[in-house]
Amino acid sequence: MIRNYMEYIVEENLPLVLDKYPGICKCEKCTDDIKAIALNNLKPLYVVTEKGTIYSRLNELNQQFKTDIISKLTQAIEVVSKNPKHNL
Ligand SMILES: [Zn+2]
Repeated sequence: MIRNYMEYIVEENLPLVLDKYPGICKCEKCTDDIKAIALNNLKPLYVVTEKGTIYSRLNELNQQFKTDIISKLTQAIEVVSKNPKHNL
């Protein structure tokens, strides 16, 4: 199977970043928008995986890589929180 590893990383790290923004909307639409914007700003990282093995690699990411992801997620949160697309 081929998977975009970046999707897993974004999924894994988004809750940690959202915790720092208690005031913003965390509905499915907004969190999906945040993920989409972040993923568009991050390079896809395709990996060939057997079932399950992708998760074990999450701990092997280097610090600079993690910092970049957190920074893109933060930017995406700011974009979405200023212009939420959900139905009020
Ligand atoms: Zn929302």
